[in-house]
Amino acid sequence: MKNSDLISRSLRSVWHPCTQMKHHETLPLIPFSRGSGIWLYDFEENRYLDAISSWWVNLFGHCNRKINSAISDQLGKLEHAILAGCTHEPVVALSERLSMLSGLDHAFYASDGASAVEIALKMSFHFWKNRGMPQKKKFVSIENGYHGETLGALSVTDVAIFKDNYSPLVMEGIKAKTPDWRHAEEGESPHEFALRASLGLEKILEENHENIAALIIEPLIQGAAGMGMHDPVYLSRARQLCDRYGVHLIADEIAVGFGRTGTFFAFEQASIVPDFLCLSKGITGGYLPLSAVLSRSAIYDAFYEDSIARAFLHSHSYTGNALACRAALAVLDIFEDEDVIERNREKSAIMSKKAEILATHPKVRHFRNSGMIWAFEVIDPSTDFPRRFHLDALNHGLLLRPIGNTVYFMPPYVIEEEEMDLLVNGTSACL
Ligand SMILES: *Cc1c(COP(=O)(O)O)cnc(C)c1O
Repeated sequence: MKNSDLISRSLRSVWHPCTQMKHHETLPLIPFSRGSGIWLYDFEENRYLDAISSWWVNLFGHCNRKINSAISDQLGKLEHAILAGCTHEPVVALSERLSMLSGLDHAFYASDGASAVEIALKMSFHFWKNRGMPQKKKFVSIENGYHGETLGALSVTDVAIFKDNYSPLVMEGIKAKTPDWRHAEEGESPHEFALRASLGLEKILEENHENIAALIIEPLIQGAAGMGMHDPVYLSRARQLCDRYGVHLIADEIAVGFGRTGTFFAFEQASIVPDFLCLSKGITGGYLPLSAVLSRSAIYDAFYEDSIARAFLHSHSYTGNALACRAALAVLDIFEDEDVIERNREKSAIMSKKAEILATHPKVRHFRNSGMIWAFEVIDPSTDFPRRFHLDALNHGLLLRPIGNTVYFMPPYVIEEEEMDLLVNGTSACL
């Protein structure tokens, strides 16, 4: 197989995601033949450092020995079985462990992040309906937030490029100001700015709570907004306000769960527990599509009755897929066996030190870090900055995809010091 052969076959037959296909007349498609650790290889053995964890999903590198072996073992036992009316060991074990980790008792499964968001929205609405409050049907979401691109998820997403074309199709909701500290006034701290943003949220809930089912939020980091970070105080205020006004809090930790922000779940940093927790992406270490919605017993209990209409009649064909659940269990084993959260703390500090040359670069603004994510804006007036930077980075052996003028690193946790050097020095050269 040659690089060029696969590229032309792909362009003829595959409709690539999040892409204007015509741009590939000039923009190269990168063909991968294999992956190992944080590296992806093409057919000519050129290698690319996967600095974005293959769209934020990979945690422990490509072709990880432990995850591979768990999936192989599961392949010889049970690949998949219907989860309605039936059950199996991997899905039970995973549910128990996620419950231990999150403090939420019941796990409902789907395959992608957007489906998890759909489930949380439907469950919240249906909860209130079962409790005799069908008028609670609106959702509050945060300015510049991202929750996926199916129609329900798109309703609570606020990224124009993904949403505008479909605006006639999506539900109308209520948007609260973002606590992302890049929008703070000169001299205002992230903490002060988050508190100020929470006043806007308070007003919304105070005035509309009778019609609001839930508030959905990306805890600590608005990923698709360009890694916009906020102070945890916003989350604790949101939790208090949701309690005061009888509104559910949905934490979308699809991108930030599984240790990304330095704690296992981001919401831990605000010492809160959400009513619903959406998980996906890192859940299988980037191996297989799996998502989960965890909820409190109080939610589950509102569906637990004789009437079938009061049950949550939602399903996906691959719900609770056994191979995906085994991959997720292997991921949780690695977290325990290798003390990942603590090791990441050390790695994060080392990387931040190395990245000082970027933080102090004259073209760089708003350099920021949370756990295993680093981001900054590049002062560059040209409209094709993201494309040019992406191409330059490829020439330095780095797979990076800026969001607008935001360059970010979200590497697999297995990144070693030499690889950090390659990443920082390569990025510095691109700048
Ligand atoms: C990626 C993402 C989603 C959507 O997940 P998909 O698997 O792409 O559908 C939802 N919310 C957040 C915060 C995400 O980062």
